[in-house]
Amino acid sequence: MLDRSGLWWLVLGFWLWAMDLSWAGVCDCAVAVDVGHASFAGGATSARGRPEFEFNLAMGTLIHEELVNSGLTRSFTIIDPSALKERVRIAESRQADLFISVHHDSVQAFYLRDWLFNGRTHKYCDLFQGYSILVSAKGFQFTASLELAKMIGRRFREAGFLPAYHHSKGVIGGRHNMLDENLGIYQFDNLVVLKNAVMPAILIEFGVIVHRDEELLVQQPEVRHKLMRSVVDGIQEYNARYCLPYGGGKGK
Ligand SMILES: [Zn+2]
Repeated sequence: MLDRSGLWWLVLGFWLWAMDLSWAGVCDCAVAVDVGHASFAGGATSARGRPEFEFNLAMGTLIHEELVNSGLTRSFTIIDPSALKERVRIAESRQADLFISVHHDSVQAFYLRDWLFNGRTHKYCDLFQGYSILVSAKGFQFTASLELAKMIGRRFREAGFLPAYHHSKGVIGGRHNMLDENLGIYQFDNLVVLKNAVMPAILIEFGVIVHRDEELLVQQPEVRHKLMRSVVDGIQEYNARYCLPYGGGKGK
């Protein structure tokens, strides 16, 4: 028979066990994976004439699939909305805890040169390559957004990817502050999706697709997979630190 203190310990033990269950890996945060641009307005054009949207769709789909596979089953993609603010509205209405906008980069127009590919003239620039992570200091969740950006940036660097520097004020035509030079994080204050999102929000340029080699590189399945892995691992690190179970994440 249990005496009173034995019973008390039993109750405490059960309570701790139940608490542990509720905290153990059931973070149900939703990530809005915003596929940049649209099928009807493709964004930048690659060195071989492909619209940026195709690159964004492939990468965004891959990220979303892996988020769902890794347990973040409320995550979703935003594809082809009619306006920029609509992207944020969708993320809010579906109670996203994080907002990741997926893009591929170009360069300032005066750096572009002509070349012939498959009998057609295309624009290219081989001067700049690499990834960039953009955050807005005007965003509702600037500090959290920057923290998420750092977690993903560290994963990119560990995987061997290098940041691009052509948006930096130190480069001719560059206009933006680098918040972290080593991790490739830029301050882009006025991007509509970043400054209007109520949850932590970042925009990732996964590579410069007007660069003739990098355009091919970011389409290689193993490279795409490594980029995706870096993003998902960074999100998981963020969630492990901040996400409460059942959608009660930091962004709420
Ligand atoms: Zn873009």
